Amino acid sequence: MSTLRFQAIKESLNRPLVEVNEAERRSAIFGDNVFNEAAMRQYITKESFKSVIDAVENGSKIDRGVADQISTGMKEWAISKGATHYTHWFQPLTGSTAEKHDAFFETTGGGGALEKFGGGQLVQQEPDASSFPNGGIRNTFEARGYTAWDPTSPAFIYGTTLCIPTVFVAYTGEALDNKTPLLRALQAVDHAATAVAKYFDKNVTKVNPTLGWEQEYFLIDKALAKSRPDLNLAGRTLLGHASAKGQQLDDHYFGSIPTRVLNYMRDLENECMLLGIPVKTRHNEVAPNQFELAPIFEEANLAVDHNSLLMDVMNKVADRHSFKVLLHEKPFAGINGSGKHNNWSLATNTGVNLLSPGSTPMKNLQFLTFFINTISAVNEYEELLRSAIASASNDHRLGANEAPPAIISVFIGSQLTAVLDELEKLKNGKLSPEDKTELKLNVVGKIPEILLDNTDRNRTSPFAFTGNKFEFRAVGSTANCAKPMTVLNAIMAKQLIDFKSKVDALIKDKGMKKDDAIFNVLKQYIKDSKRIRFEGDGYGEAWEKEAAKRKLSNNKTTPQALKAQVSKKTIALYEELGIMSKVEIEARHEIEVEEYAMRIQIEGRVLGDIARNHVIPTGIHYQNILIENVQGLKDIYGKGFKKYAGEQMELIEAISGHIAKINKGITDMINERKKANKLEDTEKRAFAYCDKVKPYFDEIRYHCDKLELLVDDEIWPLTKYRELLFTH
Ligand code: ADP
Ligand code: MG
Repeated sequence: MSTLRFQAIKESLNRPLVEVNEAERRSAIFGDNVFNEAAMRQYITKESFKSVIDAVENGSKIDRGVADQISTGMKEWAISKGATHYTHWFQPLTGSTAEKHDAFFETTGGGGALEKFGGGQLVQQEPDASSFPNGGIRNTFEARGYTAWDPTSPAFIYGTTLCIPTVFVAYTGEALDNKTPLLRALQAVDHAATAVAKYFDKNVTKVNPTLGWEQEYFLIDKALAKSRPDLNLAGRTLLGHASAKGQQLDDHYFGSIPTRVLNYMRDLENECMLLGIPVKTRHNEVAPNQFELAPIFEEANLAVDHNSLLMDVMNKVADRHSFKVLLHEKPFAGINGSGKHNNWSLATNTGVNLLSPGSTPMKNLQFLTFFINTISAVNEYEELLRSAIASASNDHRLGANEAPPAIISVFIGSQLTAVLDELEKLKNGKLSPEDKTELKLNVVGKIPEILLDNTDRNRTSPFAFTGNKFEFRAVGSTANCAKPMTVLNAIMAKQLIDFKSKVDALIKDKGMKKDDAIFNVLKQYIKDSKRIRFEGDGYGEAWEKEAAKRKLSNNKTTPQALKAQVSKKTIALYEELGIMSKVEIEARHEIEVEEYAMRIQIEGRVLGDIARNHVIPTGIHYQNILIENVQGLKDIYGKGFKKYAGEQMELIEAISGHIAKINKGITDMINERKKANKLEDTEKRAFAYCDKVKPYFDEIRYHCDKLELLVDDEIWPLTKYRELLFTH
C-alpha cells in the first residue's frame, strides 16, 4: 500500500501542463451551446418564440402544436452543433443531477433512418427512475414518475447531448425533485412581492428573485486523491495527522494561483462560457489548495440550474487536468471548510433591485420595506432556514468549531442598525408633518450616503446584508441551492403577504396614508424581530449563551435540524402557499434523515476498514522492526542492552497502546452500528448514527493520527496531509 502512496506522489510531481484552448474573447462564445433567444430566433417561428417567452414571463402553457415546432427547431440547432442525443436533465432528491440519453436517430423501415425529436419528447418523458429516492411516495410497483420541460431554464448542449431542464414529478402529482418546489416558491414570492412593490411603483408587474452563488472547492492531484480510500468513498479524509504547516501563515488566500490550477480554471471557465454560465471571479481561498469561483448573479431558477451544472462540469474538466475536485464541506480536519454563499435579492421587471437603497426618500422607503421584511421573515422561520442547509457534511461547519454557527442570525452593520433604531422610536399612528419631514430628511433620506461609507463587514454571520443583497453564508459547498432558495423565497412570500394585509388594514380601517401605514407596520416588525439581529462575532460560547437567552434555535446536528422541516408551522406555510403538500414534505424529511444515516454508516465502515486493514497492520509491522532491533541489541550488549534500546522499547509500548485503543474503538463502533441498524424508525436510526456511532470517529482517528507520527514514514500507507495539500 505504501508503494501506492509513493507512486502517486511521483505521478503528481511529473504532471505535464494541459494546454487550454481559450476563446480570444469570452463575450464571443458566451452562450454558444445554449438554446437562448438568439438561437430561438434563428431556428423557430415567431409564433413559437412568442409562446416560449410568454411561458417564461407569465407561466403560460405551451400548446402541443407549438411544442412540435419548437422541438424541431431545437433538434436542428442541436444537430448543427454536433449533438447526437438528447436528455431530460433533472435534479432528483439525491442532490445531484440525472440524465438518460436517447439518440435522435430513428429507423423508418425499409432500411432508412432519420433524426427525429417531436414535441412529445420535448415536453414529457418517463425515465425508468424507480430507484431515485421518493420517501415512500412512489412505490416501485406503482405508476412511474415523469419529467416535464421547464421552459424558464433554456436547453443546452453538453458534449454531444442536448440537455433539456425538466421537473420530476410522480404521476399522482407529488414533486420528486428539488426544482418543483423551488418554482412554486418563486411564483409565490413573485406574487407577494409584486403586490407590495406596487405601493411604490404601479408599473411593476413581476418580481424575480436573484441568486449569485460563490462556489468554494479543493483541488487535489487525481493520483494523490485516488490513493486515499476515504477521499474516494466518503469525499473527505477520515484520518490523517495535521501537516506541520497548515493555513496559519495565511499565505494562500488571494495569493498567486499555481499555473496548473490556473489552466484548470481557464478550461473550466471556457466551458462555462459555452454553457452560458456567467462566471466572473476566481481566487485562492484561505486553506491550501482551496479555491473559489463566482458568477454574475442571475434569476434564481437559472442560477440554481447553473450551479448544479457547474458542479458536474467541474468534475469533468478536472479529470482532463488530472485533478480531483473536492466539493465536500470539510475534506480536511484542522483547516477551513468550504461553503457556497448564496447572495440573494429581489428584482422587478422595471429593473429595480428592491434591496438596493435609492436616491429619494420614496425609493428608500421601498428599500426599507423589503429589507425589514426580510429580517422579519428570517426571524420568524430561522429554524426552517437552518434545516434547509442541514447535511452530514455541512455539520462539520455549522455547529462545529467553525463559522458560521448553527444559530441563524442576521448581520446588517452599525449604520443600518442606527436607522432601524430611529424608526423603532416612532410613535404609533399617523405621523405629524414635522415628524415625517425629519424622518425623510435625516433617517430615510440618508441611507445611500450611509451605505457608501459603510465599511463594517462581518465574516462570521450566517446571513449578512452586504450593501444591496443578503448573503446566506451558511449554505454548504455540496448543496443544491434549490433547497435554501425554496425556503428563503417561501418565507419571504409569506412575510410580504402578512405585511400587505396589515398595511391595507391600516389604510382601510384607520384611514391612514400609505406611507404612515407602512411606517407603522415596519416599526412593529423591527421591534418583534430584534432578537435575530446580531452584529458580533457569530460563533463561540458567549454567542451560544446569548442566543439561548434570545430563544434562537441552535440545532447542531442534521437529524435535530431536520425536525423543523416537518413541524406544524412548516406544513402550514407550505400548504398555504401551495409549495408542497404534507405528503411531499414528510417524504422529503424521510429521504434526508435516511441519507444522513447512510452517510454516517459509510464513513464508519470506511474508517473501520482503513484503521483495521491499513493502520493497525502498519503499526504492527513497525513494531516488529523495533522488536528485531531490540533483540539484536540484547544479543550484542547482553544485560546492559536497555541503555541502548530504551527509546525503542518505549515506542513498542506506545504502539501497542494506540493499537489497543483503535481496536476497541472499532469494535464498540460496530456494536453501535448494529444496534442502530435494528431501529425500524428512520429518524431514530439517524439519531443513533449521530449520537452513538459518530462520536467514535474522533476517538479512533486520534489514535491513528498518533501512530502516523510514530511509524517510519517509509512504510506509512496513507498519503499524508502535507502531501495532499502541498504537492502542486
Ligand atoms: P463578495 O461577497 O466576495 O464581496 P461580491 O459582493 O462581489 O463578492 O458578490 C458576490 C456575489 O454576489 C456575486 O456572485 C454577485 O454576482 C452576487 N450579487 C451581486 N448583486 C446581487 C444581487 N442583486 N442579487 C443576487 N446576487 C448578487
Ligand atoms: Mg461572499
